[in-house]
Amino acid sequence: MTQGVATLDIERPQHRPSDPLVDPFGRSISYLRVSVTDRCDFRCVYCMAEDMTFLPKADLLSLEELDRLCGVFIARGVRKLRLTGGEPLVRRGIMTLVSSLSRHLAAGALDELTITTNGSQLAKYAGELATHGVERINVSLDTLDPDKFRAITRWGELDKVLAGIDAALAAGLRVKINAVALKGVNEDELGDLAAWAHGRGMDLTIIEVMPLGDIGAGRLEQYLPLSVVRARLSQRYTLEEIDYRTGGPARYVKVKETGGRLGFITPLTHNFCESCNRVRVTCTGTLYMCLGQEDAADLRTPLRLSPDNDVLEQAIADAIARKPKGHDFIIDRRHQHPALARHMNVTGG
Ligand code: SAM
Repeated sequence: MTQGVATLDIERPQHRPSDPLVDPFGRSISYLRVSVTDRCDFRCVYCMAEDMTFLPKADLLSLEELDRLCGVFIARGVRKLRLTGGEPLVRRGIMTLVSSLSRHLAAGALDELTITTNGSQLAKYAGELATHGVERINVSLDTLDPDKFRAITRWGELDKVLAGIDAALAAGLRVKINAVALKGVNEDELGDLAAWAHGRGMDLTIIEVMPLGDIGAGRLEQYLPLSVVRARLSQRYTLEEIDYRTGGPARYVKVKETGGRLGFITPLTHNFCESCNRVRVTCTGTLYMCLGQEDAADLRTPLRLSPDNDVLEQAIADAIARKPKGHDFIIDRRHQHPALARHMNVTGG
């Protein structure tokens, strides 16, 4: 594994700006996830330590810089853009960015602009998201039990999130619920969560906990392989294989009894790196070519070096040329320490 953020090697650009981004394994990079802030109004126990130190605001890319950076990726073939965090809806002025990025939807250069949110601010923003062309959103919700919700998020309020989901559905947004499977916490609830989500016309995706960042507790205690979850759900439901894909890593089944879709994201028990089409940019302009590797490229320096995009485009092309084949997360008795020091709020999952 290569370590650290690569520094900029300023040379004359060799690519043509319209070249699509293709990595050494022939995978086209069509999906960009942008973490617009590392801050969050929750402290989910599997995501962050309780006493997180956040980046100084001065280190963050401005909304204008984020907009320009996204524009360069879109010009190079990115068709799907997801804003994430931290909590993207706590970034001040976030709707200015969403509004500005929506021009790429209108121009047909982007197929989808979407967001992953904890839902706490959705009641306020759902209508505006819909106005700006956002059609689908992911809301992270691991439990419907208010006490468990507070324990998982450390200080979140379930009612607020449920009101946010109501507002999103009322605004016409399609909502997918993402739940992290947590041993001994929500494992008995996942079937009910599916029934609830499907009853409201929402898909549910269940995610395996990943060993990212020091969270002050052993991962082994949290880790629940989705092979186990799926086997248990199969006792209650008929899970029918379907081809449905959203461009992300989830593999879906249809639940015959509810008629709804159920996705599984299994970075540990079965990774899908061979079809990875994604890269991630942090709020400081660091590009990670793989969620599960440390190698990264600094895009803030080239972004600020010149108002034209040549150097920036070259830095992106150089980084994509190093995209690794995949990650190799392991959680077992010998591997309880984080695979990577970086917490999930840096790259946003
Ligand atoms: N605040 C937003 C939210 O809650 O959706 C966006 C950022 S959050 C980091 C994105 C997703 O990553 C959430 O669904 C969260 O549950 C998930 N997540 C965080 N840490 C994780 C971990 N260690 N393993 C698996 N999923 C994780």
